[in-house]
Order: sequence, then C-alpha cells, then structure tokens
Amino acid sequence: IQFGKAWEYSESIESAAIVKIAPKYNLFINGKFVAPKSGKYFASINPATEQKIADVAEAGEADVDLAVKAARQAYNKVWSKLPGKERAKYIYRIARLIQDHARELAVLESIDGGKPIRESRDVDVPLAAAHFFYYAGWADKLDYAFPGRTLKPLGVAGQVIPWNFPLLMAAWKLAPALACGNTVVLKPAETTPLTSLFLAQILQEAELPDGVVNIVTGAGATGASVVSHADVNKVAFTGSTLVGKKIQQALAGSGKKMTLELGGKAANIIFEDAAIDQAVEGIVNGIYFNQGHVCCAGSRLLVQESIHDVVVKKLFRRLQTLRVGNPLDKNTDIGAINSKMQLNKICELADSGVAEGAVMHQKAGKLPDKGFWFQPTFFTNVTSSSRIAREEIFGPVLSVMTFRTPDEAVEKANNTPYGLSAGIWTDKGSKAMKMANALRAGVVWINTFNKFDPTSPFGGYKESGYGREGGKQGLLDYCKIE
Ligand code: NAD
Repeated sequence: IQFGKAWEYSESIESAAIVKIAPKYNLFINGKFVAPKSGKYFASINPATEQKIADVAEAGEADVDLAVKAARQAYNKVWSKLPGKERAKYIYRIARLIQDHARELAVLESIDGGKPIRESRDVDVPLAAAHFFYYAGWADKLDYAFPGRTLKPLGVAGQVIPWNFPLLMAAWKLAPALACGNTVVLKPAETTPLTSLFLAQILQEAELPDGVVNIVTGAGATGASVVSHADVNKVAFTGSTLVGKKIQQALAGSGKKMTLELGGKAANIIFEDAAIDQAVEGIVNGIYFNQGHVCCAGSRLLVQESIHDVVVKKLFRRLQTLRVGNPLDKNTDIGAINSKMQLNKICELADSGVAEGAVMHQKAGKLPDKGFWFQPTFFTNVTSSSRIAREEIFGPVLSVMTFRTPDEAVEKANNTPYGLSAGIWTDKGSKAMKMANALRAGVVWINTFNKFDPTSPFGGYKESGYGREGGKQGLLDYCKIE
C-alpha cells in the first residue's frame, strides 16, 4: 500500500514503503493470529488521508474468553514457573527487537495515528524499547526491590490502552506485567491497533511462550469484556476519566487489583524570573507535542501578570512557525488529529471558548483538504470557570490565564478535578521546590515539560486516576506483596 501517494514527493518524507501493511489483521491469541469468532472486522483509517489502512478483527466476548484462557494456561504452566532471570531474557529480546524494527514501527505509528514521524521516531519507539529494557532489569531483582517484602505475581492482567501513544502505552503496560511474572490480555484503542499487532509479530520473533501475551482488538465493548472477565486478576486502564469511572463501577467489589491512568488539565506556571524564551519553547512543547493528544499536556498556561503581554507576543510569533501537515514529513511539527470524533470534540470546545468570551489566537495558513486537522491555537482572556479552562480538550489548544503571587498560582493550578502533571518555570530553586510540594499533581516538571523516563513513576491525583506506572513503584501494582 503506497501511502506516500497522497502527498507531493519530497526528500523529507519518510518512505511508507518500508513497512509492510497487510489488508487484514486477526487477533493474537495463544501465540497465533486467529480469525475472530465474532466474524467482525472494522477499518483502521489513516487520519491524514481518510483512507482505509486495513481491516482489523473485532473481538467479541467469546474471543476475549479464549484470550483469557490462553493467558491463564500460560501463567499456570509456563510464565509463573520461570525464574526471573529467564523472564528477563525474553523481555530484553523484545526490547532489542523493537530497536531492530524501529523505523517500521515509527512509520506505522505515524500512518495509523497521525503523529509526526519525528515524534514517533525520536520519542515513542525509543521510549517503548527503553521500558522493556528497564523492566527486564527488574525481573530477577524483585526480591530486592522493597527490602523485607516479597513480590509475587497476580495472575492474568487485562490491559486497555488509548490511541495517543499506542506502542508506548502497550510497552508501559506489558513490560512491568511480564517482569513481575503475570500474563496478559491487551486491548489496543480502535483507531490505532496496528503497532500493537506489529508488536505481536515481535513477540513471536522473540519466541515468547504462547499465551503469555494476547492482543485482542476492538472498541469499547471489547475493552469492557476484558476488564470484566471473571478470570482476570488485575486491570490496568489508560484512557478517559469517563470510561475509568465506568470501569470502577463495573468492577466494584470484584476484588481485582486496578490501576487507572486517566485524563488531565495540567497547569504550566511561568514566573517573571523565568528564562522567557526557554519557557515559551517549553509551553509550545507542553501543549502542541503530539497535537495535544497528551494526558499530561500543559493545557493551562498560568503566566505571572507582569510578563503576560510579552509571553503572549512571543507565543503568537512561535505559533506561526509551527508546520502542520503530513505526519510522514520529517519537518512536520503538528500532525493529524487522531480521528474525526476527536476533531469534532476539539472544535466544539474551541467554539465554546469563543462563545464564553475568550480571545482566540491561531496559526494562519491553509490545511490539507483531506484528513483531520486543527491549527495550533491558544486563548487569552480565559476565565477560570470557562469550559476551556476546566475540561480536557486533548487537542492543540492552550488556555492562558494570569496570577500575581505564587500562592495564587498554586490555588489556580490545583483548582481542577484532575491532578496528573504540572510545570514550573523560574530561575529560583527554592521557589520551584516550594511550588512542587504544593501542587497536587503526580508529576511536576521544573524548567522543562513532557519529559518521560522509564525510571520515573507516573500517575495521577484525584480524577486523574490512581496507581503508578514506571519506576520501581510500577512493580507494586503488578504484584501481591507479602
Ligand atoms: P477512552 O477512555 O475513550 O478509551 C480508552 C480505551 O478504553 C480504548 O481502548 C477504548 O476502546 C477502551 N474503552 C472504551 N470504553 C470502554 C469500557 N466501557 N470498558 C473498557 N474499555 C473501554 O479514551 P481515549 O479517547 O482513547 O483516550 C484519551 C483519554 O485517555 C484522555 O482523556 C487522556 O487524558 C487519557 N490518557 C491518559 C493517560 C495517562 O497516563 N493518564 C495516558 C494517555 C491517555
């Protein structure tokens, strides 16, 4: 399939031909690709062209049941019996194979999800490999992770992931689960299933024992079947707060161990003593990285009143330099919005901003005729009670507000039902540390933003969820602790 065709040929366009895409994908159960018992398939669409990429199997309840049975059998017979150092070998192998297939994975991620190739290539794929490397290192050291405590696997983990970092979220979920000795049924998001299915081929290449990881594609109903299956011991969900709440309700009283990584509305706080040009770069990265489809995006800018005008001016100028377009072009900064549905949601919230009296600033220029696009945007004159200040937009839209004192900044930053991340820009170390302690957010970045590392725990306060993924803490949610 030649996806390059829709675009004018350019040296800067990553060749789509390097990745082979099948017209049809089946479910990955017990080490093999099998047709769904449901008989159903859905189309995965390229959001930059609106063309169908492939048909993908939609797992029904019977398919999920087969996947859970395969995972249970692999857990009982193989995986829970392997010593940690043997599990580690497989996990290291997966990490190395992700590196070997890095170019194909990056291109596939950008075609399926719309993110700029520069991001897939430099962030998503290397970080996915890094996650497997990191947790491979823990597999034979669980006895030393928390002195005096013994960590034992839980059994079968049911994992449901979103579409914004498809391969990376799969890595975040699989690597710690496998390191701790669990087996898995993973459900990728319906708009971005292809890199998870490519990963399934990598698992075969790594000769991971059959059934240790099973991948069932489909929409919300498939996810609901996975998390509510009676033989699933642990549920790990990353997605919207709305669905996270539904899962909590559905599983109440089931005794399943659960981690929820949900939405966010992070404040990026910039003080008058900050290095302003550096901060503006951080603000741009904080909100426009991955089209703003980032749970921890710095979507509220709190700027100290004295520097508001200068920051807004610099931000507007920088906005005009961002290139929106073909995700496979190495010069692209902002790719396609992941789906029509997400684009509609962003448009609706942006319209509400205008209706509520905020002033919209947008990059000028023409967008491609086909595909789903939204120009990078920010709003000034935003009131704390408006929808664009309170609701997660999950798009390239920033709401700018002001504060006078550090206390006011903390109060405004914490005035949200979410609590996933925050950013602070100042050249005063003591101020930064004081602020970081007062912010109710799982991650606080200082003079940087959107930095990820497998050694750091990540997770939310309040309605952003609970449990931590990444780091040593990420082991705890995949283990019984004795
Ligand atoms: P979503 O909640 O609609 O879907 C997430 C996943 O859940 C998908 O695979 C979907 O098919 C599945 N799903 C839908 N309904 C389900 C149900 N009833 N039971 C089980 N599974 C179900 O979210 P989305 O639109 O795909 O992703 C965007 C959201 O994810 C944003 O709110 C974002 O903040 C959040 N997110 C959070 C993190 C984090 O680490 N906290 C990371 C990425 C995304």
